[in-house]
Amino acid sequence: MISQYSGISPKGDLILLHKLGEKLNNRSFLHINSTRAGGGVAEILHRMIPILKDLGIDARWEVIEGDERFFDITKKIHNSLQGNFERITEDMWQHHYEVNRRNAERLDLDADAVLIHDPQPAPLIEFRKSGRWMWRCHIDMSNPVKEVSDYLIRYCSRYDAAIFSVAKFTRAMGIDEFIIPPSIDPISEKNRELTDEEIKETLNKFQIPTDRPIILQVSRFDRFKDPIGVIKAYRLVKKYNDCILILAGSPATDDPEGEIVLKEVQDYASDDPDIHILLLPPFSDKDINALQRAATVVLQKSLKEGFGLTVSEGMWKGKPVIGGATGGIPLQIIHGVTGFLVHSVEGAAFRIRQFLNNPEMASRMGEKGREYVRNNFLITRQIRDYLSVWYVIENKGRSVLEL
Ligand code: UDP
Repeated sequence: MISQYSGISPKGDLILLHKLGEKLNNRSFLHINSTRAGGGVAEILHRMIPILKDLGIDARWEVIEGDERFFDITKKIHNSLQGNFERITEDMWQHHYEVNRRNAERLDLDADAVLIHDPQPAPLIEFRKSGRWMWRCHIDMSNPVKEVSDYLIRYCSRYDAAIFSVAKFTRAMGIDEFIIPPSIDPISEKNRELTDEEIKETLNKFQIPTDRPIILQVSRFDRFKDPIGVIKAYRLVKKYNDCILILAGSPATDDPEGEIVLKEVQDYASDDPDIHILLLPPFSDKDINALQRAATVVLQKSLKEGFGLTVSEGMWKGKPVIGGATGGIPLQIIHGVTGFLVHSVEGAAFRIRQFLNNPEMASRMGEKGREYVRNNFLITRQIRDYLSVWYVIENKGRSVLEL
């Protein structure tokens, strides 16, 4: 399996991966998050576990279970950490802890290395049995509601290390902190090459006309993704350039707000026949791949963003990408080189028109974007980094010469 990446991923990453695989051979590596489908974390874990196994590591992925109240609370915690004020009462924190306690009874937490993803399962550290524990933050913590981040940090500071996607998100927690951006898998169903026939199949299925340029945003229906702002930008563009807008999204089991936001978006789109709001079932990877390949311009107009895998997904397909200048998006989009960063609806509309009117510039930037993703945001690099952190924290205190 890992051999499938040669010729795609940078060679140095593959050499390091093999070496780390030898060092950590047969050791156990447990990942825990809060959903098996929907959103970037699940997307990466689906791909990463088999590769880790192929490298000789005994990798496992567990998902915590919770009631409706738990996911309402964790969504509020998530919103607060991304800067939108929500009140989290002591009673709510208690429920958060209690659900984790029950999960700790149910799950086998025994492993040499444990990587806990995001705040939902963060309290599991209280039930640690063995091994090195790392807390992995995927969300935009650049400007959190302080009392919520302070409370959460009480758990996080008990880990051996914390991992953030972007330097701006790190906090002083008194433990080792590492920056590891997420990644996409170039050979997954979501990102592999598709034939024209396969792309057509998807467009026919969703009845998307092909006679005009397509503007696309693929995202959960979440206000931080600014779907309404995308429609506003499209309406500004539409006055001058005839085009089609696709907003594609699917529910995530740990995101209870999705339905409400979807309804808002549908109402706002009203009866415009050129706005296609596609509600995709989970695991619609090939369809998303096809939509991204069919798009003329890919948008990720987020207002807050942990990383924004959809940006790298678009860039990998050679598409010109326009992203909100927030969170992990500026890591991927070098303004004016691999795409454009925007701060407003007007800015987004301006850049969309620029791409629509300059196809040559669009394809040049798309090509640069693809190479940038190859060198920085492929899954082989991310696994290399995780294994390195595990190896380093396990050997903390030993001289480099002994390793
Ligand atoms: N995605 C998907 N189906 C959808 C919407 C999104 O499979 O209907 C995928 C998308 O292609 C990307 C991931 O979910 O791989 C979203 O990750 P991102 O980092 O962009 O945002 P998050 O949802 O984690 O905030």
